[in-house]
Amino acid sequence: MQSSPSRLVITPSATILSDSARAERMSKLSFGRAFTDHMALIPYRDGAWQQGDIKAYGPLMLDPACSSLHYGQSIFEGFKAFAQPDGGVATFRPEANAARFNRSAARLAMPDLPPDLFLEAADALIDLERNWVPKNVGESLYLRPLMIATDPFLGVRPASEYLFVLFASPAGAYFPKGVKPVTVWISEDYVRAAPGGTGEAKCAGNYAASLVAQAQAEQKGCDQVVWLDAVERQFVEEMGGMNLFFVYRDGEKVTLVTPALTGTLLPGITRDSLLQIARDLGYASEERRLSVSQWRADIASGALTEVFACGTAAVITPVGHVKANGFDMTINNGENGAVTMALRDALLGIQHGTAADTHGWMHAIKPR
Ligand SMILES: *Cc1c(COP(=O)(O)O)cnc(C)c1O
Repeated sequence: MQSSPSRLVITPSATILSDSARAERMSKLSFGRAFTDHMALIPYRDGAWQQGDIKAYGPLMLDPACSSLHYGQSIFEGFKAFAQPDGGVATFRPEANAARFNRSAARLAMPDLPPDLFLEAADALIDLERNWVPKNVGESLYLRPLMIATDPFLGVRPASEYLFVLFASPAGAYFPKGVKPVTVWISEDYVRAAPGGTGEAKCAGNYAASLVAQAQAEQKGCDQVVWLDAVERQFVEEMGGMNLFFVYRDGEKVTLVTPALTGTLLPGITRDSLLQIARDLGYASEERRLSVSQWRADIASGALTEVFACGTAAVITPVGHVKANGFDMTINNGENGAVTMALRDALLGIQHGTAADTHGWMHAIKPR
C-alpha cells in the first residue's frame, strides 16, 4: 500500500463561487443538481494509484474508446457529511463505503483503492468545501465517489487504466414537503439481480437496467418499483435503489423484518445501521426471506403494521400502498408509521450530532 503525505495535490479553483452566489444556490437545494467548486481525481496506471489532484470541478476528458463507456466497467458510492452542533462537519460511516467500494471493484475486476486513500480524498475535499455543507436538519453534503475504466481499447477485458473521481453535492431534504408514504409496484416483468450476477455491487449497469421497470411502475400510477428474486419470483428483495423493512407488532412487541442478504441484494449501510438502532430501541429484528403472498397475508391479518425503505439519499421512506397485477393494498392507512418515524429520528439525530454516537459512526473532518 502506498502512503505518502502528498498523495493529493490541492490546486484551488480560480473561479470559486462568490459567497452570495453560493448562498443563492444553497437557498433552493434539491437532490443531485448543485455541485461544489472542487473535485478529487486519482488516476491508476502501471499497476498503481498515482498522485491525485483536488482541483476545479468540471468536465472530464475521456478517450471515446475508453472501456467504461462501452462495457460498463464503472462503480460508485454515496455517503453524506453533516454540519455538527459544534460548528464542525462529520461524515457518516465513510469507512463502510470505502469497504463496499472495494467489494464492488473486485466484482467488476477493478483495482482495490486503499481505504485510507478513499478517506483522505474525502476528508480533504470536504475540508475545502466546508462552506457548502448545509446546516438544516435533513440537509447534508452528499459525496459521490466513482471509479471508471479509462483504457482506450475496444477489447473486452479488464482495463489497465482507471480514474477515481470524487465530487460533492449540497443536498436539501429529499422530501421538501416532509416525509410522505410512497406507492410501490411489484415488478413481475423485470428483475434487478440474479444469483451470480452483480446485484451486490454498486455498478453503473445495474441502474441503467432498472430504468424501464421504474418507468413501468410510474405507468401503473406508482412511485417506485419493488424487485423480486430472479429465480422463484416470489421473494421481496429491494425497492428501487433502497432496502426494505417490514414492521410487525404483537401488543408491545415490535419486530423488524428485512430481506436477508442473499447475494442479489445491495448491502445497504443504512440497512445495517437501522438493524443496530432497532436493537438500541428494544425492537427485535430478523433478516430472512419474505414472499409477496406472506406480505399480503400479513397486511390482511393486521400483523404487519408498517413498511419502509431506507438508503443514504432519502434516509427512510414509508411505503403506504403496494400494487401488482391483481392487487392493491394499503399499509397503515397510507400514513407514516410510529416505528418508521422513531427509527428515522434516531438515525438523523446521530447524523446531525444531536443524539449520542454510541457506535462510533461519525467521522469528524479535521481542519487542515
Ligand atoms: C445504494 C443502494 C442501497 C442503499 O445503500 P445505502 O448504503 O444505505 O445508501 C440499496 N439498494 C441499492 C440497489 C443501492 O444501490
